[in-house]
Amino acid sequence: MPWYYTTTFEVTGNTIDINHRVIYNLYRFQILSIKEDVAGLTLHDLANHTGSDASLDQARRWLGKCIDSHQDCGSDRDITFRPSRLLYLGSSDIRLHTSQDYPDDLRYMTLSHCWGRLQSTRLQQGNLDFFRRNAIPQEALPKTFRDAIRLARHLGADYLWIDRLCIIQDSLEDWQAESVMMGEVYRNSLCNIAATTALDSSEGCLYPRDPRMLQPTPLVDGFYLCNRTSLDHPYHLYTRAWVLQEILLAPRTLHCADSQLYWSCDGMRVSEEFSGGFTGWTPSMCNHPFHGSSKGFVEETLRAMIVQMRTADEDLIPSRRGPRPFTLVAYLHTQPFWSSAVRIWGQLVDIYTRTDLTFDTDRPMAIAGAADAFRPYLGDYR
Ligand SMILES: [Zn+2]
Repeated sequence: MPWYYTTTFEVTGNTIDINHRVIYNLYRFQILSIKEDVAGLTLHDLANHTGSDASLDQARRWLGKCIDSHQDCGSDRDITFRPSRLLYLGSSDIRLHTSQDYPDDLRYMTLSHCWGRLQSTRLQQGNLDFFRRNAIPQEALPKTFRDAIRLARHLGADYLWIDRLCIIQDSLEDWQAESVMMGEVYRNSLCNIAATTALDSSEGCLYPRDPRMLQPTPLVDGFYLCNRTSLDHPYHLYTRAWVLQEILLAPRTLHCADSQLYWSCDGMRVSEEFSGGFTGWTPSMCNHPFHGSSKGFVEETLRAMIVQMRTADEDLIPSRRGPRPFTLVAYLHTQPFWSSAVRIWGQLVDIYTRTDLTFDTDRPMAIAGAADAFRPYLGDYR
């Protein structure tokens, strides 16, 4: 059991009250005496931009560590899955590729973002051929897309899926066909890039920042002063219904907030500030996006939830045929496997019903991919 000691105090004006909470504080700090490898705090200097080489290299190391040492992350990916269209980033130009263009070892990333009201470049029936045959003019793309392209390239992906550029936006037929595939697109991605702070596609994924807000200040005898003021809240992105499914299904997500980059997969949750992980910290101290939404959010991928359900005896998987009990609830009490599945699915639905949608008619589709994953465990009561 690692030893650590924390004392919280808060600042009002010039007065510091140790161990005394005041309700009208502006900033919240914490004094720590803790070994670096236990706290996970980054004690070296951070760059003044989340798009700096240092920050992007950190993100690439997280991805490499996840791929190399997290056996379970991405283990449910279907490597034969091919999205209908992807942006090809492998040359200096950006082009739209379709499945016949892909290499055998396709590795693509996805983007989770808020559309906002900005009417930016998008795929339409009128420019479909142009985007396939010619370079997509990058200067016409909004900053969030350009930043995501830069991130994907830095993390080693030749392909990127962005809904507005890979689904024909003025074709209802294409939307209907692609929206049912959306869950699979995210589930089989190498990594999802979340434009965590951006309210629309003009704001980007990468931001200038003041690194002093993140870095602990050495005091005496191994004590550090750490700023625990919430830096990135609220995370508007995670109040969106579509995004819930995207984060649930993606094997790993790079969260791009305006103060720093965060990483989450089933093997680790880290940030530039806590590059060694959040051991010994309560979630609210870490400002991690998974704990940042006022509406609550998922803390694991769907794959991990399925594993939880599988901890019950496989033999208890209910048959879809045969006699059913009097009531579903009564039956669930006799079936630990189902009980677990219903509990977890119920928690997801609870979060989902509190999320926002631009078009309410999209609501069934926005959770369809996750519902498909649960169907084998819940049975079919239609
Ligand atoms: Zn991982």
